[in-house]
Amino acid sequence: CGIVGYIGQSSAPSILVSGLKRLEYRGYDSAGLSIVTDGSIQTCKAAGKVAALDERVGTTWTGDDLEKAHVGIAHTRWATHGPPTEVNAHPHHDLNSGIALVHNGIIENYRSLRQRLEADGHTFLSETDTEVLAHLIGQGYKGDLVQAVCDALHQVEGTFGIAVIAADKPDQIITARRGSPIVIGVGNGETIIASDAAAIISHTRQVIYLEDNDLAIVTADGVEIRDFNSVPVTREVAELGFDA
Ligand code: GLU
Repeated sequence: CGIVGYIGQSSAPSILVSGLKRLEYRGYDSAGLSIVTDGSIQTCKAAGKVAALDERVGTTWTGDDLEKAHVGIAHTRWATHGPPTEVNAHPHHDLNSGIALVHNGIIENYRSLRQRLEADGHTFLSETDTEVLAHLIGQGYKGDLVQAVCDALHQVEGTFGIAVIAADKPDQIITARRGSPIVIGVGNGETIIASDAAAIISHTRQVIYLEDNDLAIVTADGVEIRDFNSVPVTREVAELGFDA
């Protein structure tokens, strides 16, 4: 339902949680976030309100963890496949490759993809359609995250707005869309992605709206947009109005 991602100099978790709060008006049943610290992905999830997630972040991570986390992705889920439990809340992971992913939308062909991935030895933890995307990206990840995401997106049918991080790539977030909105706020030494400009406006008014079949490589210093064949495309930077 709602996506927020942050990369920059600030502590990611508090920015992600306040971004999720800005998206609460859209409705949701659970929430979660992942950060990268010391080369590994750490995740916090909670069924119910963002306030419950916020509380859990405070009890799970020390001040030091929070200070060191300069990249992260977060999600409010409106369950379509699998009940609204903590396990089914996003982010979802491929643990072997250190991939974490949040997803809005529906992966229509998740059953056949899941069967194939399970036959290949992948273990699924949730009942969501989303988790296949994490494993697909993880299976194809050999150090080039853009390539792995492109390859995975060529195999899925349905709708998606996604944000992906890898444990060994703390300097980037990959985001992409088809049929589900993604907007990227370009700040000063920081970049915020979201499914809705409401989560961005307190940081910057300079935004790029992804179009369907766009993928973006997001760093603290800017944004590079490509298609799903990794061919560069150009998108205008727009200025958010005061009613956003
Ligand atoms: N289909 C996914 C799920 O059920 C994503 C739902 C959403 O857009 O929040 O987990």
